[in-house]
Amino acid sequence: MSRELREYEVAVVGGGPAGLTTALYATRLGHDTVLIDRGGGRAAMMLDTHNVIGITEDVSGNDLLGRAREQVEGYGADVRQEFVERVERVGGPEDDAPFRLETGDEEYAADRVVLATGFTDARPDPPLPRTGRGLHYCLHCDAYMFVDEPVFSMGHGDSAAYVAMIMLNFTDEVDLLLDGDDPSWSDETDELLRAHPVDIVEEAVTGTFQDEDDPDWLGGLEFADGTTRGYRGGFPMYGSDYNNGLAADLGAETNDDGTVAVDDHGRTSVDGLYAVGDLTPGHNQVPVAMGQGAKAGIAVHKGLRTFPKPLDELDDGVDAADVPAISPDLRAAARTHGDD
Ligand SMILES: Cc1cc2nc3c(=O)[nH]c(=O)nc-3n(C[C@H](O)[C@H](O)[C@H](O)COP(=O)(O)OP(=O)(O)OC[C@H]3O[C@@H](n4cnc5c(N)ncnc54)[C@H](O)[C@@H]3O)c2cc1C
Repeated sequence: MSRELREYEVAVVGGGPAGLTTALYATRLGHDTVLIDRGGGRAAMMLDTHNVIGITEDVSGNDLLGRAREQVEGYGADVRQEFVERVERVGGPEDDAPFRLETGDEEYAADRVVLATGFTDARPDPPLPRTGRGLHYCLHCDAYMFVDEPVFSMGHGDSAAYVAMIMLNFTDEVDLLLDGDDPSWSDETDELLRAHPVDIVEEAVTGTFQDEDDPDWLGGLEFADGTTRGYRGGFPMYGSDYNNGLAADLGAETNDDGTVAVDDHGRTSVDGLYAVGDLTPGHNQVPVAMGQGAKAGIAVHKGLRTFPKPLDELDDGVDAADVPAISPDLRAAARTHGDD
């Protein structure tokens, strides 16, 4: 039996800060929008939220996302918890709903698709400290927490070496942990690294221990040679696995690092397909993802909005019965928004 096709003007795939902001703009600018999100993602990993003005750090990523989902639904968007397995283009940009999206249970049609699927941080092998309390994936978010604290950067490539040197801006106790691997950074990085006061530890990490005074937090690491070193926390630098499969299936251009290539409004090389947030080049930060979501939402709106009609489509002018262009459902949601 064929499934019912659910039709929207805008389909957003991924419900982190980037996708939620795109859906917020698209909906409030009058477009029937579905946001399809499997759950999880990088924002959901935030134990506390930093660098988002107006949001204090006692707010977790899940609190922020839950509130944002309610907010977007309150304006009339459909929010679905599903995993998008396939997106294909069945028509040209002038056709109605040229995109088809498939999840395990449902099929969707949309005029525009916005991919906000982010990436997954590659993790070193265990033993590992707890994420957010000793293991940290966001330098620009968490470096401030380590002022005057002993920290590590873990990895064997250029990025691990650079993060170690960058942490010297915040503390004078920085180790670079090779965790038993051979260094693969460049000769230039090696020269630079050896000129900075960073201790390079070659031994594999064999265990972790908690801080006695603050047991939620890491106290330090144990090494294969039987030594221990005290750390408040550190950054594993093993790369990013971009969730770019849907973009690639549609033929969108990707960059060498796996990000999806976009212009300043989130447009990809495929007409009608946008990408925002961590999936695209740029700083991986909640406010940046939100900004990209806002820009893409506005760009999508400019391409879809009905009025003003172009001169070559005017014929006898605009019939008063055709306005407003907003759909009856969104119109009803807007009229009653904030009533309770
Ligand atoms: C531990 C940690 C702490 C951080 N702390 C901060 C901080 O304090 N402040 C800050 O500014 N930044 C922080 N960051 C960075 C921030 O989380 C990211 O930059 C931000 O979440 C990017 O938003 P996004 O919407 O692009 O991606 P994500 O938040 O990763 O969301 C992507 C979403 O897409 C979904 N998805 C993927 N594929 C599919 C599919 N095929 N179908 C349906 N859904 C799909 C995922 O499940 C996920 O829900 C932190 C990151 C980490 C890992």
